[in-house]
Amino acid sequence: MPKLTRPLAATAGALLVAACAFTPDKSPTLDEAFATYSARFVEELMAFYPEWGIYAGHYAHAATLTIPDAARRAAELDFAERHLAELDKFDLASLSPAHRTDLALIRNELEATRWSLTAYRGWSWNPAEYNVAGPFALLINTDYAPFETRLRTVLARLERVPDYYAAARASIETPTLEHVRLAIQQNQGALGVFGDDLIAKVEASALSADEKTLFKTRVAAARAAIGDYISWLKELEQRYANGGARSFRLGEALYEPLFAYQIQSGYTARELYERALAEKERLHARMAQLASELWPKYMGDEPPPSDRLELIGRLIAKLSERHVAREELFAQIKRQIPLLESFVAERQLLTQDPTKPLIVRETPEYMRGVAGASINAPGPFNPNAETYYNVTPLDHYTPEMAESYLREYNHWILQILNIHEAIPGHYTQLVHANKSPSVIKSLLGNGAMVEGWAVYAERMMLENGWGGHEPEMWLMYGKWNLRVVCNTILDYGVHVLGMSQEEALKLLTKEAFQTEAEAREKWRRVTLTHVQLTSYFAGYAEIYDFREQQKRALGERFDLRTFHDRFLSYGNAPIKVIRELMTSQP
Ligand code: ZN
Ligand code: ZN
Repeated sequence: MPKLTRPLAATAGALLVAACAFTPDKSPTLDEAFATYSARFVEELMAFYPEWGIYAGHYAHAATLTIPDAARRAAELDFAERHLAELDKFDLASLSPAHRTDLALIRNELEATRWSLTAYRGWSWNPAEYNVAGPFALLINTDYAPFETRLRTVLARLERVPDYYAAARASIETPTLEHVRLAIQQNQGALGVFGDDLIAKVEASALSADEKTLFKTRVAAARAAIGDYISWLKELEQRYANGGARSFRLGEALYEPLFAYQIQSGYTARELYERALAEKERLHARMAQLASELWPKYMGDEPPPSDRLELIGRLIAKLSERHVAREELFAQIKRQIPLLESFVAERQLLTQDPTKPLIVRETPEYMRGVAGASINAPGPFNPNAETYYNVTPLDHYTPEMAESYLREYNHWILQILNIHEAIPGHYTQLVHANKSPSVIKSLLGNGAMVEGWAVYAERMMLENGWGGHEPEMWLMYGKWNLRVVCNTILDYGVHVLGMSQEEALKLLTKEAFQTEAEAREKWRRVTLTHVQLTSYFAGYAEIYDFREQQKRALGERFDLRTFHDRFLSYGNAPIKVIRELMTSQP
């Protein structure tokens, strides 16, 4: 389950409410039985996966650190088999639509777990799966209980950190070199969680003198265990530097099932790939038209190039000169959030919750790694925790790297980024998801729905007048949207079709107009993740098509805010599930 390559942001946001709202629909007895079962399933799940519980804001089992050894994997397989057998007792057709879809989500998750343990086997080749930092940092920094209570939970959890890393080393067979390097970087970040800051907090706390002593002993042992793991990983890096490591390319036999489990789309991976190729062509045609219109305004009398991609590329390069100064980036992002909020309110695009403010902050060290900006949201078990918009600062960038980054996130794209990450993208969606009446749909969150919503939100905002319908904004949007289209082409191309680094960089720079820096970062990401990059395009296409169908079906009665509020009210379910619920309960 959490061992699939689910992104941290989605995991942290994929969360739940306290109770399952039960509405008898067809057969009250069977629905009651399912409601009882699913409540028990959630309890058992949270007890079996304490770390998942911590991300979900369910802290009852937080003192237990899961040791990732062979016995644990056997128990996990048993857990999945046992619950799959329980699901078989329910007759799908007799359940209400809401329970039917919950059941389908549980089944998908359990089957994914079984497949992940036995076929995908990331535990044997991805050393970055092993890192204790995240749950510790959450326990220390989330104000869910008195500080001393949380520290005692941390103290208990610390006891077996050395066992944890011993199990990690014993589990790795042949790793990929790319994941060895990621694990080194991320575990170095983990050391920051157990640094002097924590010790100072412990010293200042109301723990007893004995507890403080024990705390310091265990923190020292944890630091040593992490340090040993990093040293061991560095040896692996050397051993495999000249060959013999596992390929980072997943291959079709693992890619298609992973896609099916994670995306839960109506398409196969191959079909989505082909659809993305067609979409790339459509966008190029539209952008060429916009670029021709804009050419005289920005290029004067210079004759436009005859090559279409060159024409678009020249215009985008010119427009990219308009961007904030590097020291203004953070402030500019912070300034835009309330503007987006009032725009959504004025145009009545969807319902917002002013009691859940978004806090813009610099990304904490231990979370820096794969992405540049992300939302870190509380779960519904802990609805009063803060929601953060993490922005990774450009401090460590050279002037050239910073310029390249800022041109990429220029005047127009920075606005689209904020729409995507914050309002009405990820942040708004997660606020709604946390109010979902289905624990299951919140807990077993679907990444394609989450990413698809954020991508859909970009286009929806522009269609409703954000950016004033400027051709510049639409041209830049085309470039931005090409990114998600090319993410799909890239992911499938690299993991199934053997696309080379050179081909990938050419696709991203020449056909998606990305800078060298962005393209190289994306290449790194595609070597570290599988399928996740396709979730953006898969979800976006499905949501957009669904909205257009609803418009046709409802005619005059279609209302955009109602559509959005209802769509978001079902939580992080696969889009095909939401669609079924919205069309079966008018
Ligand atoms: Zn510049
Ligand atoms: Zn996103």
